Amino acid sequence: VDFVFSDGAVHHCLYWSSGFHHKDRGVHGLVGTIVDISEQKRIQRELAESKAEIEKISRTDPLTGLANRRFFMEIYQTAFSMVRRHNHGLSLIMVDLDHFKSINDSFGHEAGDHVLVQFADILRQNCRQEDLPARTGGEEFLILLPMTRLEEARSQAERIRLSLGTKNASEFIQPFTISAGVVEWRPGESPEALLKRVDALLYEAKEQGRNRVCSEL
Ligand code: GH3
Ligand code: MG
Ligand code: MG
Repeated sequence: VDFVFSDGAVHHCLYWSSGFHHKDRGVHGLVGTIVDISEQKRIQRELAESKAEIEKISRTDPLTGLANRRFFMEIYQTAFSMVRRHNHGLSLIMVDLDHFKSINDSFGHEAGDHVLVQFADILRQNCRQEDLPARTGGEEFLILLPMTRLEEARSQAERIRLSLGTKNASEFIQPFTISAGVVEWRPGESPEALLKRVDALLYEAKEQGRNRVCSEL
């Protein structure tokens, strides 16, 4: 029950009452208890808010604000159980920044961090609502593309790669390039096998000289 106190404040209270009855004269008196639970309610609300905040932190990469590896893997598994049932296409892009160590070495770790933040923004700009871009390692990113076929995923990766070249170089500490692998799930393939395949294609892109997208198209 809500009680309004004389100062106007609303208090959440528990309220019990019962009457005394006289066998001839009816109600004789009332006895009641009011317990103010406003404080408990406030604490409950604060705990719920903290819990939501902690959950958000636990799935976010603090530097870029993208999803972290943990959260990515959680959604990845869920997406898999969906695609196994409906086979509506599921693709993955794995991106690694090229020669990132040299950016750190030449301009400092902070400058390197800045590049990572900028790159995260580019990823966000080049993703649809239903895509999940995540920072899954130091300078490694994964994008989950539900309901996407290989060709479409490949052009999305190319778009990301090319957008780095068109960016005004002064926006970055130093212009940089990326290498990427792109795969589409094949019926029967496990989540682990698909990750292995995209990792191998990224490796191939590096081997072939970097600044390129590799897929089996
Ligand atoms: P490659 O083209 O082969 O990928 O070369 P690379 O230099 O990018 O790769 P390498 O794995 O040799 O180095 C990765 C570097 O990324 C080394 C590490 O210090 C840096 N790094 C990892 N995480 C962070 C981070 O959070 N901030 C910054 N500034 N640097 C990071
Ligand atoms: Mg790298
Ligand atoms: Mg790397």
